[in-house]
Amino acid sequence: MAIELPADLLQSLQGIRGFNQPAFEQVHASGGQITSIRVNPARQSATAGEWQPGGFDPAALTPVPWSRYGFYLPERPSFTFDPLFHAGTYYVQEASSMFLEQALLQTTDTSKKLRVLDLCAAPGGKSTHLQSLLSPDSLLVSNEVIRTRAAILEENLVKWGAANVIVTNNDPQDFARIPGFFDVLVIDAPCSGSGLFRREPEAIREWSPQAVQLCCQRQQRILAESFTALADEGLLIYSTCSYSVEEDEDILDWLMDTFQLETVPLQTEPDWGIVPVQSALHQAAGYRFFPDKIKGEGFFLACFRKKEGDRYASRSPKKAPLVKAGKAEAAVVQPWLRQAGDWQFWKQQELILAFPTNLEQELLTIADKFYIRSAGITLGKIAGKDLVPEHALALSGLLAPEIVAVSLKKAEALQYLRKEPLELAATTKGWALVQYAGFSLGWVKLLPNRVNNYYPSAWRILKSGNN
Ligand code: SAM
Repeated sequence: MAIELPADLLQSLQGIRGFNQPAFEQVHASGGQITSIRVNPARQSATAGEWQPGGFDPAALTPVPWSRYGFYLPERPSFTFDPLFHAGTYYVQEASSMFLEQALLQTTDTSKKLRVLDLCAAPGGKSTHLQSLLSPDSLLVSNEVIRTRAAILEENLVKWGAANVIVTNNDPQDFARIPGFFDVLVIDAPCSGSGLFRREPEAIREWSPQAVQLCCQRQQRILAESFTALADEGLLIYSTCSYSVEEDEDILDWLMDTFQLETVPLQTEPDWGIVPVQSALHQAAGYRFFPDKIKGEGFFLACFRKKEGDRYASRSPKKAPLVKAGKAEAAVVQPWLRQAGDWQFWKQQELILAFPTNLEQELLTIADKFYIRSAGITLGKIAGKDLVPEHALALSGLLAPEIVAVSLKKAEALQYLRKEPLELAATTKGWALVQYAGFSLGWVKLLPNRVNNYYPSAWRILKSGNN
């Protein structure tokens, strides 16, 4: 499909540092597609011996220069039919976005306990990345305002398998309830999306100068409503996938006019092809990604250090918003979990969840003020003296090594992921993990004459074929 870029967009980009119209148009016309993945470092230990990032042949991968976990693939495989994709060994993510890693690591001591809010988080690219970069005793609150998108965010975070994450479904303005709570605030703002035109040419039809105006008003609103939640000296990371100055440099100037904050420049290597820019009024530092200069799509990112306000003064909620599981319930779940690890068990309706003990205060604060979709690892439901395990438990790093696991071949793994009946020659009975290439896919129940498939219905593969 020939891509015709909006004349108004091209006109508006004249004079922007790094904008080279012929090269920009040519790269869009070429229709070239770039595929990149980011591996889940928490999953790599499952492979015995050789390290295979995300299960891929290392010889086929080219590193993304600005991310230790990012790799380009030589071509786009069918991710749907790769069981390891469903096992959360990697996330398919556009390479430019992975620059978030530089923004965080160059500005923040990530060995410390941090509270991080990813405000516009669905489908979860930045959240899964942040989780891999933070220390295990840090908290990531991953928020998405649109309910259906929050469900996808939750799914991707369950696949990622980390315990130190809370998924919320709140409006940005709700975060004013906890002033100064977060050390890092990531706002990957909804935008006019011009940076993705090469990948999604259909989006061109929705682009207009009016849409850019509406987006920049919305960006200001989102920033104004949530900025309170950032602590003094906290880091704001703002990004868009738009080329428009109104949504990028102009927003930086608006921030500097509106709040007390300092621009935070980042180091980039010249051969990365990233273009450092400055806002017109306050010379705030930003970073532009043009697809004719880098191997990735259009992207913009800037960092600020907040210079106002206080830190949140923690106080226990008057009425506990979550209840701890009792001794009897803990005794039911304990045999499923590995010994090492400092968890507390909490009840969320009839479900039991595990959450890091050192984050109790944070969990109670968030549960008191926000709508939580999931917190930590949902272990399952207690039924009498037994646990009915949840899918999240299968994909977590919490499981005891003694849990029975059945290894599947690729065709069987796809049958499982379609939630089709399975025939397994297993000698034991009861709950078992099913695995592919050493990575867990979910639960089955082995019965005397059949196997019950417990893959979540809503996530099953619907597409036919197998490649
Ligand atoms: N950070 C995500 C990632 O890396 O996968 C992508 C985020 S996307 C660029 C912007 C998100 O903002 C979308 O999920 C969208 O639903 C959400 N959004 C839309 N309107 C919003 C609003 N008014 N306030 C906050 N978020 C909004």
